[in-house]
Amino acid sequence: MASDLLDKFAGTIIGLAIGDAMGRPTEFLSSIEKIRDTFGPDGVTDFEADRHPAGTYTDDTQMTLAIARALIAAGHEPFEDLMERMATEFVAWRESPDNDRAPGFTCLRGCEELAKGVPWRIAGVADSKGCGSAMRTAPIGLYFHHNEKRLITVARASSLLTHGHPTALASAAATALLVAWALHDDDPNDYPRRLTTAMRKMDGEEVATLVEKIPDLLSAEPKDVLCGACLGEAWTGESAVASALWCFCRTPDDFTKTVLTGTNTAGDSDSIACIAGSISGAYLGLNAIPPHWRKGVENSQMLYQTAKELLAAHKQRVNLDL
Ligand SMILES: [Mg+2]
Repeated sequence: MASDLLDKFAGTIIGLAIGDAMGRPTEFLSSIEKIRDTFGPDGVTDFEADRHPAGTYTDDTQMTLAIARALIAAGHEPFEDLMERMATEFVAWRESPDNDRAPGFTCLRGCEELAKGVPWRIAGVADSKGCGSAMRTAPIGLYFHHNEKRLITVARASSLLTHGHPTALASAAATALLVAWALHDDDPNDYPRRLTTAMRKMDGEEVATLVEKIPDLLSAEPKDVLCGACLGEAWTGESAVASALWCFCRTPDDFTKTVLTGTNTAGDSDSIACIAGSISGAYLGLNAIPPHWRKGVENSQMLYQTAKELLAAHKQRVNLDL
């Protein structure tokens, strides 16, 4: 690997929080025209304040951090204990006073069931394939990057807490896989083909159908790709993953462009930019992210510390797996 692991772990966690914070003001602006009317001809190009300060991230990052904390505390423990810990972290997120950033209905519903004591395997909404379980699995890609089989098992299980549709499970695995491949410096040109194959092996046909279109769309305009007629508006897991991967694949060497492409979209901008930011951050590392964004994102020190603890926990896990 070109950069050291801490640079890549921190690039992923801080990168996804930046994408999420960048996309927050545009999540509910339903067209590029409305984004331009609000933020000028180039759309959003930096953190924007609204009822929250500039740099504030949303539920996407909060739930990602919940998964990171579960892995740090219990990743080395048996699978059931890890999943119980994840459930505990999700319930804590649901009850947190900071959970005021447009949390997804399905995520809240699953967490309500968990809070009532419903087992994690059946707590999720059985037929939901919203992107809520795909947006939060980057830490699983980091933690289990050395063990793809375990990565897939845990990422798919993490969906069940809130989203039970087979496409949601596959989409959750997709984000984690992409982060692991980026961490390994694998060639981004291969990701669409590799992901298509991986999705078809796990009942992820809906993800595969969108992802296999990506190579032919790389020279198209964002407004023609990130829309209902093409890769969708990212409200579903398969559309969020395909949209984020498209953003990354067209500018794999440029974190800023990747994140801003995801930000300035008609659809679920914060989730697209969050997933795209995680892949780009894993591939390029923390030092490729503009310093004023690294410093300006909410809780930047805590994010860095979480990445550091996740790396230490990963190393402990690798030793156990040897
Ligand atoms: Mg959000």
